[in-house]
Amino acid sequence: MNQSTQQENDFAVVSDQLAPIREMIQTCIQCGTCTGSCPNTFAMDCTPRKLWRMVMMGQKDEIFQSKTFGLCSSCYYCTLRCPRGLPLTEAMGALKQIAARENLEPYKKSVRFYKSFVESVRRHGRVREMEFMTLYFFSMKDPFLPLKFAPLGMKLMSKGKVSVQIPTKGQRRLESLFRKVEELEAKP
Ligand code: SF4
Ligand code: SF4
Repeated sequence: MNQSTQQENDFAVVSDQLAPIREMIQTCIQCGTCTGSCPNTFAMDCTPRKLWRMVMMGQKDEIFQSKTFGLCSSCYYCTLRCPRGLPLTEAMGALKQIAARENLEPYKKSVRFYKSFVESVRRHGRVREMEFMTLYFFSMKDPFLPLKFAPLGMKLMSKGKVSVQIPTKGQRRLESLFRKVEELEAKP
């Protein structure tokens, strides 16, 4: 199956999953306050206001090809300022969850990055940078990827910002906490 056919199939699967998000933002009046409040708009390919319009119109392809919700840093400015009191940060989070759950092509890299980060925290209670990046490189299966990060890694090491530690399974002291969250998230 080629990449565009795979994407079309992926996007068809998520169509129904947009309904609860549409509910969240259905009283949007398209005033643009969310866009004006968002510190990350400069990097987004469509504004938050436009994204909500696309959600209302059910334009799933455009939504999930956009980088906008992936760049939301959950700062809550838009949520606090929306004149309709809409849960916009939550809606952005719900779009991220769909992209991760369905393993959508444009978001695979970010999801693997995030999962590697969380796995390191789960093992040790804090992130171990070297281990985190090792897990990420393995998950990406790209032998040239470490070379792209090498200059940054060297710079950080020379400033003592990254310590060299061999990856281990750790003591998993936060395991029960992670399990509980997984349990809660699995509930309908
Ligand atoms: S601030 Fe609220 S009402 Fe205004 S465009 Fe954004 S979501 Fe819609
Ligand atoms: S919560 Fe996300 S979308 Fe809203 S203002 Fe912050 S970064 Fe922008």
